[in-house]
Amino acid sequence: MSITFGSETTTINSSRLREFLDRPKQLLINGEWVDSRAEKVFKTYNPATGEVLAEVAQGTEADLNAAVAAARSAFEEGSWARMRPNMREELLWRISQKITEWADDFAELESLDNGKPQGIAAAFDVRSAADCFRYYAGWPSKIQGSVNNPSMVLAPPEAEFHSYTRREPVGVCGQIIPWNFPLLMAAWKIAPALATGNTVVLKPAEQTPLSALLLGEVLMEAGIPDGVVNIVPGYGDIGAVLSSHADVDKVAFTGSTEVGKKIVESAKGNLKKVSLELGGKSPNIVFADADIPNAVAGALQGFTLNSGQACEAGTRVYVHEDIYDEFNSALAEAVEQLQIGPGNDPASDITPLVSEEQLNRVVGYLDAGKAAGAKVLVGGNRWGDTGYYIEPTVFTNTTPDMSISREEIFGPVTLSIPFSQEDEVIEAANDSEYGLAAALWTKDLSRAHRVASRLQAGSVWVNTYHALDSQLPFGGYHQSGWGRELGPESIELYTQVKSVTIAL
Ligand code: NAP
Ligand code: MG
Repeated sequence: MSITFGSETTTINSSRLREFLDRPKQLLINGEWVDSRAEKVFKTYNPATGEVLAEVAQGTEADLNAAVAAARSAFEEGSWARMRPNMREELLWRISQKITEWADDFAELESLDNGKPQGIAAAFDVRSAADCFRYYAGWPSKIQGSVNNPSMVLAPPEAEFHSYTRREPVGVCGQIIPWNFPLLMAAWKIAPALATGNTVVLKPAEQTPLSALLLGEVLMEAGIPDGVVNIVPGYGDIGAVLSSHADVDKVAFTGSTEVGKKIVESAKGNLKKVSLELGGKSPNIVFADADIPNAVAGALQGFTLNSGQACEAGTRVYVHEDIYDEFNSALAEAVEQLQIGPGNDPASDITPLVSEEQLNRVVGYLDAGKAAGAKVLVGGNRWGDTGYYIEPTVFTNTTPDMSISREEIFGPVTLSIPFSQEDEVIEAANDSEYGLAAALWTKDLSRAHRVASRLQAGSVWVNTYHALDSQLPFGGYHQSGWGRELGPESIELYTQVKSVTIAL
């Protein structure tokens, strides 16, 4: 099946998905699909062709206020507030199953809206999203407090007390997500918030709102009570309204460090809780004793997965001088074998960047690197003139002060940098305002643990890359963020502790 927009044609394989795309794309507020109160819409595009994929209702401040009010009343009264842990578990489990039932549709939609390879969307994004709901489905009945025996220094010796702690939901959570893993970021945010009994207002990125809207349909089919999850697509302006809203208790954000700082500012008014997953410039260190073919494959995956649009991408590859030339030739050869093309072609390894804006930003970094004197080992240019493609690129001859060495590029671009000593490479790796992820490649077990403990990053991977899992906390040191998502850490992010003391 295909849909024609203007002169171009986008092929939609799934009839269910075609029906979804044919329906109006509205806002989910209080369990109903509604138009924007200002009757505004915005367009989302297919990055492989630049053509319009869908028109989506554009949330405004009035819509956001209605969504927050719905989330507030669902939090305080009604079936959600009374729902027992085992019922929340069943609901989260059902959501996971429904995502799996809709897996092909989600993968196709994610590929169309974001540009990523459909095969990767199916194998990673959609499966991980289902896994995230499944993992948090296990939590509601395991959230516990402690029983305490306080000493109470002011009380007379014969007095007795009983104290315990309760872990309670934070309340209404504003969640603002980016465009690089749209469905997965929605899952990372919504699943732990629901497991802990909160309610949610989600603002997807303007570039990729569609999979969040399909998830909204899935949540309703799974039987989520009205107002528990509200979805309001729109631009950054309503993200700002959400993060400054006086009736929102917590804001969880994934995106750029620049906007993360704005979120902190706007959260000040009511001192809402803030968690942030921000940018990265992650080092990937290859020691001389590494299994070189594995390390080359890992470095390649490290900077090309999702065409480099991953906050944990390995964008500074440090290679021991003894193997530097050998490693670079093998990496360049592997890069040259990558196929560039649209996300719906199974042969494509490198697919378009999400938007023209992102394309221009990455081209700007390629130009800045060349102008500063870096050498292009392979790639280095825009690819084609339709769609937002960038050749996978490796720079050498870089210096630590160049913008390509310090800033997040968010395209399939990395640096290969030689080093000679372990101490020296640890210092270089840690010389960053970021600290999201780091990896090292070695066969020396002692070195693996020694270096892992000294790298300033929220995730350290040894002889592997992109090792993300629902069980493992993920988040950043330094300016890569506040807090950790996934694992038990997200249960802490979405709860607050109360101590109760009874004089017996
Ligand atoms: P961004 O502006 O940080 O966008 C992330 C989310 O924040 C989007 O939903 C965005 O809305 C929203 N937003 C924008 N301004 C806001 C504000 N003042 N208050 C509240 N929310 C706001 O990211 P971007 O501009 O799309 O990308 C720029 C760079 O950020 C990339 O090149 C990359 O380096 C980095 N980035 C990092 C991640 C990550 O996973 N850590 C993800 C994406 C981008 P709209 O987009 O709908 O306007
Ligand atoms: Mg799009």
